[in-house]
Parts: sequence; C-alpha cells; structure tokens
Amino acid sequence: MNTCRRNFMKCVGLSPIVLNMPGVLGAFDKELKFPRKFTKSICEMCSSRCFIDVRVDKENKLFIQGNIYSKATQGKICARGGSGVSQLLDPKRLVKPLLRIGERGEGKFKEISWEEAYKFIALKLNEIKSKYGAKSVAFASKSGPESIFINQFAYAYGSPNIFDHGNTCPSAYSVALKSVFGTSSLERDYANAKFILSFGHNIYEGMVISYIRAINKALEKGCKLVSLDPRFSMLSSKANEWIPIKPASDVAFMLAFIHILIYEELYDKKFIQKYTIGFEKLKESIKDYTPELMTKECDIDAKKIKELARECASFSPHCIVDYGHRSTFTPEEIEFRRAIAIANTLLGNIETKGGIYFLKNAKIYNKFAKENVAPIFENVLPKIIKPKDLRIDGVDIKDGEFSKIGEKRGIYTKVFNTILTQDPYPISGLFISRSNPVITANNAKEVIAALKKLELFVCIDIYLSDSAMYADVILPESSYLERDEQFLANAGKYPSYSVRQKVLDPIGDTKASNQIFKELATYMNLNKFFPYKDIEDFRMKQAFKYPEFIYELKNKGVLEYGIELLARDKESIEKFIEKYPNSKQFLDEDGEFKDLLACQTLSGKIELFDEVLEKACARGALTYNKIKLKEENEFYFIQGKVAVHTNGHTVNVPWLNALMDNNAVWINQKIANDLNLKKGDSIKITNEVGSVIAQVLPTIGIREDTIFAYFSFGHINKKGISASYLLKNDISPVCGNNVHTIGVSIEKV
Ligand code: SF4
Repeated sequence: MNTCRRNFMKCVGLSPIVLNMPGVLGAFDKELKFPRKFTKSICEMCSSRCFIDVRVDKENKLFIQGNIYSKATQGKICARGGSGVSQLLDPKRLVKPLLRIGERGEGKFKEISWEEAYKFIALKLNEIKSKYGAKSVAFASKSGPESIFINQFAYAYGSPNIFDHGNTCPSAYSVALKSVFGTSSLERDYANAKFILSFGHNIYEGMVISYIRAINKALEKGCKLVSLDPRFSMLSSKANEWIPIKPASDVAFMLAFIHILIYEELYDKKFIQKYTIGFEKLKESIKDYTPELMTKECDIDAKKIKELARECASFSPHCIVDYGHRSTFTPEEIEFRRAIAIANTLLGNIETKGGIYFLKNAKIYNKFAKENVAPIFENVLPKIIKPKDLRIDGVDIKDGEFSKIGEKRGIYTKVFNTILTQDPYPISGLFISRSNPVITANNAKEVIAALKKLELFVCIDIYLSDSAMYADVILPESSYLERDEQFLANAGKYPSYSVRQKVLDPIGDTKASNQIFKELATYMNLNKFFPYKDIEDFRMKQAFKYPEFIYELKNKGVLEYGIELLARDKESIEKFIEKYPNSKQFLDEDGEFKDLLACQTLSGKIELFDEVLEKACARGALTYNKIKLKEENEFYFIQGKVAVHTNGHTVNVPWLNALMDNNAVWINQKIANDLNLKKGDSIKITNEVGSVIAQVLPTIGIREDTIFAYFSFGHINKKGISASYLLKNDISPVCGNNVHTIGVSIEKV
C-alpha cells in the first residue's frame, strides 16, 4: 500500500514537521510503502532486547506488541517499546549521510552520498594509520548484536582499542562475577526466590520485562523483598521493607552481612567445601567487620544487619542477594559487587531453584544432555587475532589489575582522557556507533574538549546526538524496525534463539551496521574480513545445517530448546535425566551435575580469595577501604534510570518526550522546607567539576543527606540536567567503572 509520509504520520499521531536541517526525515518527502503483515522481531528502545510482534494493518498503521512465543516476557513490552513507531517516524531522525561544514559542535552539515562518506572516512583512516599507526583510532559501540561488525572492522584495520559502554554502566558486577566464578554469564532465578535482598536494582524503571514478570511472580508466591536504596524507588514501593541505606556504604553493609553468615555459621558448609577455595582467607579478612563496627559506616542498625543475614540464610538456597545493576557507583564498586557474589556462594544458592545459575548455551547443554538438542551456529566472520599493540586502558595486560574487564569491553571513558593527555599514546581518530558520550560519560566538558581535538570523528546514529554534533561524518543507521540482523544464540537455563527482522524497508538512505562496515571495508581492501553478500547470506552461513530451524525462527521470532537445567536442584535433575537418559553419567556421588560448576578461574573452583588480584593490586581478599565522597555540608548526588527513557537515547522520541521531558531533582521534604524550596523552584547544584541549574521535587522518599536525578536529560536544547556535567572522569579500581556518586552543594536561585 502506498502512502505519503505526511499522511502516514497522521495515522500514527505525529504532526508532520518539515525541518530545514539537511539529512533528516522531516526534510524528506517521498511515497512510503508499508506491506501489511505481522513481523516478529526484537525491540531496541533499550538494551533489554524484548521480543516483539509488529503489526502493519490495512490502513498503514503500525502497532508494536510483545511476542507471545517468548516465555520470559509473555507478550509484554514497556512504554518505550511501544513508542518505537514514534522514533521510526520522528521528523528529526537522520536519513542521509552528513559531512561537517562548520566548526565542530556548530551543527553545520551537508548531505553527502554513502560513496562520498566511505571515501572520506577511508582516506582519513589511511592517513592516520600512516602517521601514528592504526592503534591511534578508537572504536566504540553500545553493546549489542551489531557491535560484532564495528569490532571486526577495528581489528581488521589494526586497532586494539575497541570499547563498549560497560564502564559507564554494568562493568563492576560482571568483573566481580568473573573474579569469583570465572565468568559473568550468570543469572538470577527471581521467579522461584523466597527472599531477595536488592541494592538499588530498580528493575521496574531500569527495565527488564522478564525480570519484572519473574519478581512479580515471586512476590505473588510470598517472596520477601527487601530494598536497600537511598531513595524510595519503584522497586522499593513493591518491597516488604525499604531501608534507606547511606549512599556508597553498601560495601560496609555487605561485609557485616558476610561476617554474620560466617561467624554465626549460617553458611552452607558442604557447598563451600566441595565447590570453593579461599574460605579460610575470607574468614580471616572479614573477622573485624562486625555489624557493630559497620553500622556507623552504613547507617543501618547492627541488629537489623544481623536480622537480615539470619533471615536470608533461613531461606537458603532459595534466596538471592542481587548483584544488581546500580544503586551507587563508587571507587569501591569491586569490593561491593564481589561481596555480593561471595555472599551468594556462602548461602549455597548456586544452581538451585530461586538462586543463581550459570547460563547454558547450546554447546554446554548438548554436552550434558549427551544429545544434539539445540543447533550450534557456524562462525561467519573470520577470527582476527587482536592487533599486537597494547591498548590504552591496560585491560590486555595479562593478569593485570584491569584484566578481568575483557578486551571487547575496555574502559571507554579512558578514550577521552587519552585524547587530551596523549598518554600512553595519541588517539587521533574515534569511530562510534550508537554511543552518546557527551551525555553518558563522566565530565561532559572534558569529553567535548577531547572530541574537538580529533583528526577524524565518525558517528553512526539515528539522531544528531549531542556527541554527533562534533562529528566529521555522521552515518545514518536504519532503525531496528528497518533492519535485519544475524540469528542470535542465547543462553539461560536452556538455550534459545532469536532474530531481529525488519518490519519495513529503510525510510530514506539509511543502512545497518552489518552493511556499513562491510561496504566501508571494500574501500580499504579489507573485504576478506566480511565474507558475506548481505545479512540473509550471513544467516544462511550461520545455520545452513538447520533449514527447518531457519524457517521456524523467522516465523516465531524466538525459539527455545530443551528443558530447564539447574545442576543442584533435585527436581530439575530428575526431569533432565528422564528426558536425556545419557546425562546420568555426569551425576556425582551427591546426585549433582558437579562439572557444570567447573569455573574458568585460576583454580577451576569458585574463588573466595582472588590470587590474580592479590598479585596485581593487593585486592585478593575482601577489604573495607574507607572513602570520602562529600564534605560535611554537602549532599550526596546519586542518579538512576527512569521507566520511559533509555539513558542518552530516547529523549528525542516525540511520544516519550511528551510523557517526560524534564528531570526534577529529588530532595528531602524537610531539607526543602529548611531551604524554603517548593516543587518547581530552581536550584544551582555545584561541585569542583561544574554547576547546573535544576528544578526541585521535594519528597519524603529520599534521605536527608542525598539528592537524586534521573538520567537521560539535559541534552542540547532540551530540558532537565545531565549529571555528566558534574561527574569527574574517575574510574574505580579493578572494574574500571566511572564513579557516579559524588558530593555537591546546592543553593536556591
Ligand atoms: S524493556 Fe521496553 S524498551 Fe527495553 S527492550 Fe523491552 S520493550 Fe523494549
């Protein structure tokens, strides 16, 4: 069916605005054709990647709903997921490659063809390579399926400096899990938990639909949920108990919690003896951290700490100390998250119902089933060995302090620092995809100063973001509703597969990353590293052995294989053996699949003391290092996610912007009264890095010494504040996380 863009916009409720800015959808007028159909795909309005089913009906209206074939999300999506249409047809979305014609940051660009863009980029990349070496170009992408293409291109070009957004987000818990379990591929069985202790893991806003459904299910069955969070978050509102813990003191609480588990002998002795090493060293390191001592640090009564440890242990192994996502990000992130991983180990809740489990991919699952239960894909991209130059962030130093972060992740925010200092060597080119560091990295002013110094800055994005404003070339990416991607193999209690499929052909002149990097490679004689014709050819190469699987996956969007496998849960083991009788040979004398808990740590066991970190930076044992984040008269400033926006990415989306376009700063009602502040009044928030003007929201749902703001706001020409203008580009030891919890002063303006 044909329609023109303006009529179509009316259909979905958008006002047709034609903008003067070149390269945007608003300046594009062409007949649009949308075939009438249902398409199973994957949402990309945030990184949770829920399964969706997109309907285009006979009136050319688009509607996004959840995919009912997914057991985890059961046909549900969130407000952002439903607003994908609004992003797709946003008049401000980029639909043409742009070349900068003004000063960096001035926002002056002209439309160019893809061929011109590729030629320009290839010429500059070759120039930089011959002047400073390939290592002096850094490549960064938000983690996700498409990042394999930018990483492949970077290695083919010869740069070891590839990054994802991890150090501004979840790297601390994944490094902590690697330290203790040798892998970060673990998950929480929320649905079957009987007790959950959560530290600011606000899943009802930093949303993962499958987690929400699982926790709701657990709560319905009577699970006790305790939320430790300096503010009354959405999760706190569902909890049986909210404990407003002092910002950045979670580590003190956790050490006292572990002290009780060990010294009151509430830990699972058999599990510790069979599966772990380092217990005696842990016991020694924790001996002084009594609740009576740590109560002063975390502002939680010693009695309460003891009560929580005892109660949690009484539900073991069906309990979870949630390693979470954020509450605060401090210089002691690694100790905090590692303490949580160790507490779970002491509770013996690993591979049990309502505990924590290792993710099983097809290879592992088939091995234990002793059958080819689930398909195993072929590798399509040829493996390239990491270029020999050392990286700028030290994550590739074997057994070094940062070695557990991973070379596909790196410490992204080190890039901006390195551009300015040229230490350890100059970075003169930056190629980013779906990344907006001016908003998401600490110290926006420093990031901007760094971007201005670059000899080449290329951005792949769907919007002219705050960062893209400084780019030499902006390559417009097809939105997730317009692009096909490779098949994805996922791991859980059993293997599963999913696929992102386009709902409509790209509007305008946009491309997917799998196409962009393949085409750019041809301009640089690097084609052999991208041996596929197009994404359909890529998929066929991945799964040519399983033609029926291909058909079914495209049809359903998600496929699950096998049954649940938990290596230490009696019921799960019995069912698994009944279904796959040959698996019986893997049972040990306790009737457990012990080998499933074989870790990729130095010892092959779960490690309660980390010898690698001990040698690298004397952090083998859990330790309490006192930190000072604010002066006496200052407030803690903490931040968090909001349900209707995704970090730096969605504030432009018209429907979501209409739902929430500002982030008033939460302040305790009593403090607001003392300062004569009413809702909507303006305050100036200041620290050593800078100052911002914000509106206030007085509430009783926050500690008196703390203020809070949601992420996602304060973009150029938009309302609200961005914390990145106040955050110093500090990184925490071992996990390289940006520090997000700081001290600030406030005054009424
Ligand atoms: S949580 Fe919402 S925005 Fe994120 S992937 Fe799921 S539906 Fe999309």
